[in-house]
Amino acid sequence: MSTSHRPSISFEFFPTKTDAGHEKLLATARQLAAQQPDFFSCTYGAGGSTRDRTLNTVLQLDSEVKVPTAPHLSCVGDSKTELRGLLNLYRDAGIRRIVALRGDLPSGMGLASGELRFANELVEFIRSETGDHFHIEVAAYPEMHPQARNFEDDLSNFARKAQAGADSAITQYFFNADCYFYFVERVRKLGVEIPIVPGIMPITNYSKLARFSDACGAEIPRWVRKQLEAYGDDIESIQAFGEQVIAQMCEKLLAGGAPGLHFYTLNQAEPSLAICSALGLSR
Ligand code: FAD
Repeated sequence: MSTSHRPSISFEFFPTKTDAGHEKLLATARQLAAQQPDFFSCTYGAGGSTRDRTLNTVLQLDSEVKVPTAPHLSCVGDSKTELRGLLNLYRDAGIRRIVALRGDLPSGMGLASGELRFANELVEFIRSETGDHFHIEVAAYPEMHPQARNFEDDLSNFARKAQAGADSAITQYFFNADCYFYFVERVRKLGVEIPIVPGIMPITNYSKLARFSDACGAEIPRWVRKQLEAYGDDIESIQAFGEQVIAQMCEKLLAGGAPGLHFYTLNQAEPSLAICSALGLSR
């Protein structure tokens, strides 16, 4: 595939708690940097639980691994003063992209205490504070956000984020390309024109994936679930099957017009690399 027509590729990490975890994250990032991705991103614990770790990881990936890196920033539980402080730090460090989210407070942290309640308000805030400095990414939910009142409401709420000034969106992961195409078609009818990049979750471990998917509202199709269950502890077979399922879905997404792929790496290089390679996107 020629470089100029390659779909956008990005890789997401989470900040780690230990030095050993951080070293592994850097090694993973260096391996993935060889793919010349458009950007990396690093998650943020809503309520500020990873504030310093996210900040340090973003600055290190950006300056040392030399891939433009986007911090995730969430508004629940953070005051405007705290958000402004972070925005200024990122802007002064030359960061140009931000993933703007509402976030989910960890259980036990009580009700949201931030001044901004929804991601569209955070997008407005970032624009009012920093103008056009940042390229703003927002989240999209082809299978509907789990707390949305209904699908129509969720579509309108997504449109508010684009109207507030978001430049592009990354979806929650899913295992069914049709829900992505339907979502894109519906929001285009609402006048939303920003690129919507599918978020891709490689399949590497069934029990973790099942737990995670229940919480975030991603449906694992019955035929995939049954097959993964049947493999039990046979990790090699799970990974081989997972790679095939995800690569086929990605192929369909790209053939159907998806502008790129954003990989939820969970700080591992191989699963995402295997999918890029199967798609002929490897550098
Ligand atoms: P919103 O867009 O604000 O939507 C949240 C809910 O409120 C939806 O049900 C929506 O329909 C409704 N809603 C939205 N706007 C309004 C409004 N104005 N009035 C009434 N209802 C409204 N979480 C983290 O904590 N840290 C991360 O780093 C992180 N990274 C993520 C990256 C991606 C690509 C994705 C897809 C999700 C990520 N999340 C992260 C999870 C995300 O924070 C949760 O899914 C959260 O519950 C919703 O965030 P949001 O930005 O989509 O919220």
